[in-house]
This record gives sequence, structure tokens and C-alpha cells, in this order.
Amino acid sequence: MKLFPLFTDLHDRLVLVVGGGAVAERKAQALLEAGARVRVGAPELTSALAGLRNQGRVEHLAGRFEPAWLDGAWLAVAATGDREVNAAVSEAARARRLFCNVVDDPELSSFQVPSIVDRSPLIVAISSSGVAPVLARRLRERIESLFDHSLGPLAALAARYRARIRAAHPDLGARRRFYDWLMDGPVAALLRQQRPAQAETALDQALARPEPAPEGSVALVGAGPGDPGLLTLKALRALNEADIILHDRLVSDEVLALARRDAERVSVGKRPGEDHNATQARIHALLIEHARAGRRVVRLKGGDAFIFGRGGEELQALREAGVRYEVVPGVTAALACAAYAGVPLTHREHAQSVSLVTAHCRDDDNDLDWPALARAKQTLAFYMGVSQLELLSARLIAHGRSPRTPFALIENGSRPGQRVLSGPLERLPALADAHGIRAPALLIVGEVAALAPDLHWYGQMLEGAPQPAAA
Ligand code: SAH
Repeated sequence: MKLFPLFTDLHDRLVLVVGGGAVAERKAQALLEAGARVRVGAPELTSALAGLRNQGRVEHLAGRFEPAWLDGAWLAVAATGDREVNAAVSEAARARRLFCNVVDDPELSSFQVPSIVDRSPLIVAISSSGVAPVLARRLRERIESLFDHSLGPLAALAARYRARIRAAHPDLGARRRFYDWLMDGPVAALLRQQRPAQAETALDQALARPEPAPEGSVALVGAGPGDPGLLTLKALRALNEADIILHDRLVSDEVLALARRDAERVSVGKRPGEDHNATQARIHALLIEHARAGRRVVRLKGGDAFIFGRGGEELQALREAGVRYEVVPGVTAALACAAYAGVPLTHREHAQSVSLVTAHCRDDDNDLDWPALARAKQTLAFYMGVSQLELLSARLIAHGRSPRTPFALIENGSRPGQRVLSGPLERLPALADAHGIRAPALLIVGEVAALAPDLHWYGQMLEGAPQPAAA
């Protein structure tokens, strides 16, 4: 280890910043945020620095660097962009045994300023010892995405309760378990949900109990349509924290690969011979059983859990069982398929509304309001429609939608094998059949679908007539 990491208390301590440009300005501002007294030495200042000087928030020494500028300083930062001046600052600081950072110049520096992730009072500092600042920044971005902003308030709360926690749990092992519970359990969840008063109540109550039993919970998480890049940061965090993941068949392997290594993964899709309600009842029982055993359960569903995902029923079951839960939305298939096929779902002239419709209807026309669906100037996005294309196209046309209405049928949306087929509604079943389109596929019907051949940008485009078979 070439550099020894330190967190310095600069409150009310003088720091010299040499330079008056944009870099010096950033440094001065960061130092002010840490409570330092800042002296800026430079012939000229940026307007922001001049503003700070005029407000009396920084002291300004005009002119070229002189060693006397260091009088009274605890640290020095050289940010002039002129190597000669920077070297002079570094040299003068060394002579006085002051630590000096020369921006982007590890050779001249006796300390480095790390990249930080600020969840004050928690601060993560990353350094590449000054040799690969870009790498350090990228690492910072990764870490930034892993911890949400409730971590700061959680650390502050833990700090305020530190003495009480110690008194309630004098035994070190018990105290550790309590802190684990604090970081992973309901208090953290309530802070994430922006409910600080309830979080504090939960903490008070836990301290009144001897030792809290591990409390399980369920996160109902939308996994999106397949491309792992479409996961939300919250979904990623939930996957990182899960003890067990109960997922549907539709969830892609790439998404599952992002989960914590030792999280148990269980596919809970429909079993052969099992009806949908039996599957659902089995899933409810599993969710409740694992949560009651104190585990952090992620219920991972394709797309969004509240769009044709029976997420509402699962929450009701959890609520009845008294299991704590949260919901993380996902990118639903209609949004993802439209985006990845270049089809805007609404359009100023051609579509003032969009409907998400299930084609998986029990008694064909009894379930759907065909006259309403057949009206012009709206976009329809049909889920679960691959086996019903004949019926869908016939019913829409019978109820008055023009046979020329364009459609786009997106197979494996956002996944490596994505194919988009487009054409007029009247030819939908024949074209889909000719190209052998299979589930999962999403059907978009409406004038906007005509844009797919022009605007598509991902995967394969199959247009109009089926390709003639190669001779
Ligand atoms: N909750 C899911 C939908 C579940 S219903 C969501 O919000 O997306 C399953 C149907 O979704 C499939 O039959 C198909 O119509 C659609 N679907 C899901 N993922 C898809 C994908 N990657 N490409 C195309 N259609 C998809």
C-alpha cells in the first residue's frame, strides 16, 4: 500500500488553494462543504470564485504564488494547470512539512483526493493512488449505484442510538446481530420508503424487546423483459440482498446472474398438469413460509409485477399473513418492446391513448370490449397473444378497425433473438405463421406500428411479405 488513507477534519482549518480556474473552483467548493477556511491564491478568479470572495467566504491573494501564502495553512492544493507554479507550491509545502495535492500530478503530490460516495455520515473513498483516476471514478459509479440514499439517514440513526443499543445488548454477539437486523430489516426498509418516524418507532420497539427474531420480508420485483440493462437500481439492490429468489420462467438468465451468488434461486412457474390457481396458491405459500423463516425473499417477475403478473394477489396474501413487503416496478413488455422496435406508443396525430390488453381471455369475445378496442386513433398492446392472432385480427376488423391498420409483432423483445414483424392487420395471422413467431411475443396494433420498419434499431426486422425460401 503506497498511500495511507485518512479522513481529515478540516473544520475551521485554513487550506490554501493555488489557482483561480474551474478546477480550483471545484476544490474550493468541496473544501468549503467540509467546513474548511479557504484561501485562494491566483492572479484572476472565475466568476463563482469571485462571488465567494465578495461574500467573504474565501480569502483571495492576488498575484503569483509566494511561499508566504502557506502561512497558517494546514494543507495546500495546487490547481493552476501550470506545472512550474504547481512544482513551486509542492516544493514550498514540502519545506514546511505541509501536505500538498497537485491536481492530476501524483509525482508532485504528497496526498491524493479520493473519489467519494457520500452517504454522510458514511463516506466511501476510492483511490487508485493517483495513477488511474478514471478507474477510480468508474468504481465510484458502481458503488454509488449499490447503496441508495437511505444509507445516510440509517447511519445517522444508528449513531444517535449507539449508546442505547450498547446498553440493551451488552453482549458483543447480540449487538452484532442487532446491527445486522438494523441494516437489513424493517428499520432500513422504512427509511427507504421515506417513513423516518415509523423507522424510529420500529427501532424503539425493537430495543424494548430482548432480542428481535430475524424478520423476513418479501420484495416484489419487476425483472423487465429480459435485457438486464433494463433492471432498475432498486431491483439490482434487492437481488444483491436476497436470501432466496422465487422467479417466473419468463425471467432471463442474464438477470438471474446478477443476483447475490449464494442466494437460492427457485423457479416457481406453472408445473405440467397444474392449473393457474394452484400455481398461485403454491407461490403464496412459499413466499409466506420463507419470509416467516426470517429470510429476505425476492419475488422476481418478468416485466412489471402489476401488469398481468398477479402481483396484487401476492401482496394481498402477504398482507393477510402479516408479512412485510415492498414493490419495485419493472419495465413492462409493452414499453420495452415498443422501445426496442422503434414504435412510439402514442403519437400527436395518430394515437391519443394506449391500452395494455391481455389476449389470454377465457371465453373469447365475452371478456374484451371489442367495439372500444376497434376504435381508431389508439394503440393496443396485446400480451399473451401468440396463439390468438387469428381471433384478434378477425374480431378487431369485424368491429370496425380498418384491415389496413398496421401491426408490429415483437418476439423476444429486448433479448438477443429479438424479431419484429410488421404488416397490415388483415395479414397478421398468415405472416406470423409464415415466420413461425413464438411466445413470448407482444402485439402492437395501431397507426404507430407503421413506424417500425423505419425506426427499428435492434435485432431483426421482418417486413410485409414472408421472405421467399432460399432456393
Ligand atoms: N408482467 C409481464 C407480463 C406477463 S404476461 C410484463 O409486465 O411484461 C406474459 C406476456 O408478456 C407474454 O405472453 C408476452 O406477450 C409478453 N412478454 C413478456 N416478455 C416479453 C418479451 N421479452 N418480448 C415480448 N413479449 C414479452
